[in-house]
Amino acid sequence: MAELQRRGELKMLQTARYFFDQAAGRLRLEEGLRELLRYPKRKLAVTFPVQMDDGHVKHFEGFRVQCHSVLGPGKGGIRYHPDTNAEEVEALAVLMNWKCSVAGLPYSGAKGGVRCNPKAMSEREIERMTRRYAAEISPIIGPEVDIPAPDVYTGEREMAWILDTVSMHHNGEFMPGLITGKPLLLGGSLGRDTATARGGFFATLEAMARMKTKLEGSTVAIQGCGNAGWNMAHFVHDAGAKVIAVNDSKGGIFNSKGLDPYKLKEHKEKVGSVVGFRGSDRLTNEELLQLKCDVLVPAALEDQLTEKNATKIRAKLIVELANGPTTQEADQIFYDRGIMTIPDILANSGGVTVSYFEWVQDRQRYFWDAKKVDKRLKQFMTEAFNRVATMSEKTKVNMRLAAYMVAVDRVATAARLRGLYA
Ligand code: GLU
Repeated sequence: MAELQRRGELKMLQTARYFFDQAAGRLRLEEGLRELLRYPKRKLAVTFPVQMDDGHVKHFEGFRVQCHSVLGPGKGGIRYHPDTNAEEVEALAVLMNWKCSVAGLPYSGAKGGVRCNPKAMSEREIERMTRRYAAEISPIIGPEVDIPAPDVYTGEREMAWILDTVSMHHNGEFMPGLITGKPLLLGGSLGRDTATARGGFFATLEAMARMKTKLEGSTVAIQGCGNAGWNMAHFVHDAGAKVIAVNDSKGGIFNSKGLDPYKLKEHKEKVGSVVGFRGSDRLTNEELLQLKCDVLVPAALEDQLTEKNATKIRAKLIVELANGPTTQEADQIFYDRGIMTIPDILANSGGVTVSYFEWVQDRQRYFWDAKKVDKRLKQFMTEAFNRVATMSEKTKVNMRLAAYMVAVDRVATAARLRGLYA
C-alpha cells in the first residue's frame, strides 16, 4: 500500500508535467517561461539527529521544496511517511502550485516531508523530530515566504510544535501566520478540518447546476472513508442526496435506498469498518466504481479510474477528492463519453483555501465564525469551478486540461508582469 502510494505520487509528477506541457502549448507560453515554471525554485534536503527514548541517536532525512514564488509565498503541507523522498516532495510541491493557482489564492506551491515511521515512534520522539526539522527548515519558511500546513500523519499537534520552535528562533515573537492547520487557540480557523470535503461539495453543486440537474434526490457513490470521503458523505446526505455505496480498506457496502452516514458512523466506530452495516449488501471496489449513480466520488487512492474501466463507469459526474485517481487515458474517455469530471487540483482545493482564510485571520488577529468561513469557501469554490468549466467549454478540452490552463495562465501572467531579476 505504501509502495503503491509512492509509485502513484511519482506518476502524479509525470501527469502534472504532462498537463503542464499541454496547457503551456495551448497557451503558447514562451520557452524561457515554460522552463521556469516546469521546475521548482528551491529544494532543501536536510539530515538531522534526534535522540530516541532509549538514548540512542537516530538520523532523519527531511525536505522542503518551493516552486517559483510568482503569486505569493509558498504554501503546502508537511508529511511524515516512511516512503517520503525528495522526488515525491517535489511532485507534491508542483501539484500544490497548480492547486493554489486554480483556486485563485495568492500563493505558490511548496511541500515538505520527513522520512520516518511516526506509527513506530513515541509522542516525545515525534516532538523532538518535529522541533529539529522545524529548526532545520526555519531559514526558508516564514509568514511571507513559505507557510507549511498538515499533510499525511501530521496535524494540529505538529503545527503547534513547529510554531513554537520557530517563534523561539525569532526572540519569542508570536507568529501564527507562519503555519496553518493549527489548534484554534493558537490562531487556527473554524472549518479547516472539514474544508476539503466542503469545498468538493460546493464544486459538486456548481457542476450539477451546469448539468441542469440537482444534487437533491440524486445518487452518490463514495470510494474511501478517510477525512474527505467521510465528510463528503455527510454533506451530500444533508443536502438530500442518497449515498448508495461507500467502502473502506475492509470492503464496500451498497443500499439502493441510501445509507444513513450518521448511523453508519456509529457502526464504523463499533466494528472498525463500514462492512456489515444493517440493511446493506456487500460490494467490491470495482463494483462500487462501476455502479449506476449520478455522482462518483473517488476519495481514496490514485489510479483507480483507468483505460481498463473507464468505458464501464456509469456515473454522470466524477468528483476527485483523492489526488490522481484518474489516469490521462481515462480522462479523455470520460470527456468523449460526456461524463463531467471535477479534477483533483480543483475538487480538493478546499483544504488549502481554508488554510488561506486561516492565514488572513491570523494577520488581522480577528477570527471569523463558521458561517463566514463556509460562505467564503463557497464563493471561492464556485468561482474556481466556473473559471475552469468556462475554459473547458471555450477551448473544447477536458476539465483537467482546462484547470491546468487556468492555473498556468495565471502564474505565467504574473511572471511576465514581474519580469526577470537582473
Ligand atoms: N496538505 C493539504 C494539501 O495538500 C493542505 C495544504 C495547505 O493547507 O497548505 O492540499
